Amino acid sequence: MALRFYNTLSNELETFVPADETTVRMYSCGPTVYDFAHIGNFRSFLFADIVRRTLEFFGHNVHHVMNITDVGHMTEDANADGAGEDKMQAAARRVKEDKKSGKVPEGAVTNPDDPYQIAQYYTDCFLEDARTLGIKVAFEYPENILHATQNIDAMQEMISQLLDRGHAYVGPDGVVYYSVESFSQYGRLSGNTLDRLMSGAGGRVSEANQANKRHPADFMLWKPDSTHIMKWDSPWGTGYPGWHIECSCMARKRLAADVIDIHTGGEDLIFPHHECEIAQTCGATGKDTFARFWMHARFLLVEGEKMSKSKGSFYTVRDVLEGRIKTESGQTAGVRVHPAVLRLELIKSHYRGNMNFTHKGLMDSAGAVKRLTDFRNRLEQACAGAAADVDFDYPILGKFADCLADDLNIAGALGAILPWASTTPDDPAAALGALNRMNEVLGVVPLTPSSDADAESGSENSHIEALCRQLDEARAKKDYATADTIRGQIQDQGYDVKTSPSGTIAERRLA
Ligand code: AMP
Ligand code: ZN
Repeated sequence: MALRFYNTLSNELETFVPADETTVRMYSCGPTVYDFAHIGNFRSFLFADIVRRTLEFFGHNVHHVMNITDVGHMTEDANADGAGEDKMQAAARRVKEDKKSGKVPEGAVTNPDDPYQIAQYYTDCFLEDARTLGIKVAFEYPENILHATQNIDAMQEMISQLLDRGHAYVGPDGVVYYSVESFSQYGRLSGNTLDRLMSGAGGRVSEANQANKRHPADFMLWKPDSTHIMKWDSPWGTGYPGWHIECSCMARKRLAADVIDIHTGGEDLIFPHHECEIAQTCGATGKDTFARFWMHARFLLVEGEKMSKSKGSFYTVRDVLEGRIKTESGQTAGVRVHPAVLRLELIKSHYRGNMNFTHKGLMDSAGAVKRLTDFRNRLEQACAGAAADVDFDYPILGKFADCLADDLNIAGALGAILPWASTTPDDPAAALGALNRMNEVLGVVPLTPSSDADAESGSENSHIEALCRQLDEARAKKDYATADTIRGQIQDQGYDVKTSPSGTIAERRLA
């Protein structure tokens, strides 16, 4: 079956075939670990997870790398030449406040002036949230959890290559800049060609620093600055790398290829970040392609607007799961939801449209997860858990595959699966086989653990969650004795057991 993805590079749907038959090489821009990732960030990370799981569903072996940005991402990164201060510097000030208010718990980040501690704390939080949402990225390949600061040597090597090949120069201020005029394809991805940038279209080049640069859109590769919060020695002085170079460098190094198959990120990264990545990688390799497919997720909005801290609509994964979100009437929801519900909510609308996060939408997803879970329990009971192998001739699985192959049409797939989940299939073993295969992509019935190793070393949360799901299953089978035993086990570990639209939830007792 032909897989078609929308390629930002061509602005067209294209048939996807990996360059190398054995492995798809895929790179995703990861989080900047200066704060908790919010649900918008996770929409982009879940989109990458769905791309990867879809490729695997169609039989591809995927080598997926995601970086973790812990240096060089500036507060004014929307400009071609990122200005402002390093986000880690800003975080150092904020974390001191967050420790006072208890947002960063006692014992975490013992020295808020140490950016490595801050980065590690938010990296751990990111990984925990990602695991909670069943994201496969970077868990099956722990070596691919990559901090930019672990790759400084490789970045310096790439910067040297760019200097040698005439794509970079040292400005009068000692900063190493990429020369955008040296790369004729600049602007191909975003449409921000040098002509358009110069005529002010997009307003994305900063007026600052013109005296030191050959072209206003030239961007920084290395900045000597011995006062920077994180710094390293280099042939161009003690300082730090630009934000864009880490991704060019880590993609090439970790995927061991000059040309990769797929590169993903959120829509805001198209320019300047991804445009600059292409210029750097092609400049260093001499090839005219970096990623064959560029795929971007549109932004998540909350109740139709940008997430805003002042309006209280800036939500982390933890906020949503613990009910700290507003309902349509402005009340705090207060009801916990199962992570599978948030996962479904964040993947169910098409990635190329803005997603509007609402409390009502979340509750609809809770109903959908419940319906799918009940269906799975009924099928398991009917066939004693013995799922049969089915292929794409099985109608619902064929329909699901068609939808996914059509640029990841999850909404269309759910439109077929949900009504089916209310039926009583003649062959429950085949139906269970189909549901299980579809769940390898959706990961919501129940939430698929990211790996066995993860399940083994699972946090207290995932252990309690597993008990909640067992309790639901026992109830569905009307095995009330087992349900009571499991309820007792959860309570003994300090939790209250409650029923929610998405099934059993456990709430930690305060005292
Ligand atoms: P950052 O941590 O700022 O480097 O961003 C991590 C990822 O989240 C990037 O791929 C961004 O494009 C993406 N992103 C940021 N805000 C949103 C949003 N509101 N909706 C969807 N993706 C977002
Ligand atoms: Zn990146």
